[in-house]
Amino acid sequence: MNTLKLTTEPADIARAARIIAEGGLVAFPTETVYGLGADALNEAAVAAVYQAKGRPSDNPMIVHIAGVEELSRLTADESEDIRRVTEAFWPGPLTIILRKLPAVPDRTTGGLDTVAIRMPETEAARELIRLSGCPIAAPSANLSGSPSPTRARDVIADLDGRIDAVICGDDCRVGIESTVLDLTSEQPMILRPGIITAERIAAALGKDVAYDPSLKEAAKHTALDPEKGAQDSDFKPKSPGMKYRHYAPRAEMHIISGAQDRVREEIRRRQEAYEKEGRKVGVILFEEAAFAEAAHDLFSRLRDLDAAGVDVILAGALNDADGVGFAVMNRMLKSAGYSVIRV
Ligand code: AMP
Ligand code: MG
Repeated sequence: MNTLKLTTEPADIARAARIIAEGGLVAFPTETVYGLGADALNEAAVAAVYQAKGRPSDNPMIVHIAGVEELSRLTADESEDIRRVTEAFWPGPLTIILRKLPAVPDRTTGGLDTVAIRMPETEAARELIRLSGCPIAAPSANLSGSPSPTRARDVIADLDGRIDAVICGDDCRVGIESTVLDLTSEQPMILRPGIITAERIAAALGKDVAYDPSLKEAAKHTALDPEKGAQDSDFKPKSPGMKYRHYAPRAEMHIISGAQDRVREEIRRRQEAYEKEGRKVGVILFEEAAFAEAAHDLFSRLRDLDAAGVDVILAGALNDADGVGFAVMNRMLKSAGYSVIRV
C-alpha cells in the first residue's frame, strides 16, 4: 500500500477525514504522541489498526473526540467528577475511563466494558475528528513495542506502506502519552501517569486521587536509596504485565539511578568500559528536574540513538516521586526492561 503523506492544510485534512469515514487508517499529530486513527465505531477498521501496529488485541485503544457533547455517543455516564476534569483539562493530555455504550465495539476496548476517551489539544486532530463525523480510536502510531512516535518521520519509519495516510504536522509538544484516569469507581485512579499529575487532578476534583498500585511498585525501584547499593541492578518485576517490553529501543538499555554527580561518574565509567569492548554507547542524561524537557525528548532520543546504531544506551534516572518526572520514569523503565543500576 502506498501511504499518502499529507499536510495540515484544510484540503489535506478533509481528504484524511474521508479516508477515516470510509474505514481507512490515518496517522495524525496530537500534543502527546502521533496517533494511528480509525473510526472507533467501525469494527473492521479498528481490527486493521491492531494489524498495522502488530498490537496484541487485548490492549484497548483511546477514543478521541472533538467536543464534550460527543461523550454521549460513547458513554451514558455523567457525574460531577467528569464535568470537573473535562472542564479543567480538555482539550489536553488527559484520558478518562468510563462505562461504554453497546455501540462501542469490543474490538475498540479490548473486550472491556469500559472505554478510554480523550479530547486532543492539537487543532489538526480535532478538525480531523469533526470532518470524519465519528469518534477516532487511536493508539500510538508506531509498531507495537517500539518507542512512541513524536515526529512525523518516526511514524513514516515504522508504518510507511502499512497505513493509508499520515498527516505530517509539527513535533509533539508533550512527547509522552496522556495521563489515564479511571472514573468508573468512587475513588478516581491513575492507571498511567502523564504530564497532568495526580496533584493537579486532585485539585480539580477537590478529592484524593489514587495510583494503580502496580505503578508505585515499579517506581519504588527508582527512588534514591543509597543503602541498597548496586546489588539491586537485576531487579525483576513481580507482575507479569510489567515484564512486557514496551517503548523499547533496539539497543540494550540500562538506567543509572542515584545522586546526580555519582550517576554522571558511573555513566562515564561504564561508557569507557563498553567502548573498550568495542561497543558503541549512547547516553541520555537530562538536566536535573527538567522533567517537561525529558518528556519531550525521551522517545525521539531513543529513536535517534537506534538510528545512529548504538549498541548500549545508558540513561540517568529522574528523581521525582509523583510529578512529570515520575511519568517519564514510567516510560524509561519499560524502555530499559526495568534494568536499573543504583550508585
Ligand atoms: P496507547 O493507545 O498506546 O496510548 O495506549 C492506550 C492505553 O490506555 C492502554 O495501554 C491502556 O493502558 C489504557 N486504556 C485504554 N482503554 C482502557 C480501558 N477501557 N480501561 C483501562 N485502561 C485503558
Ligand atoms: Mg502505545
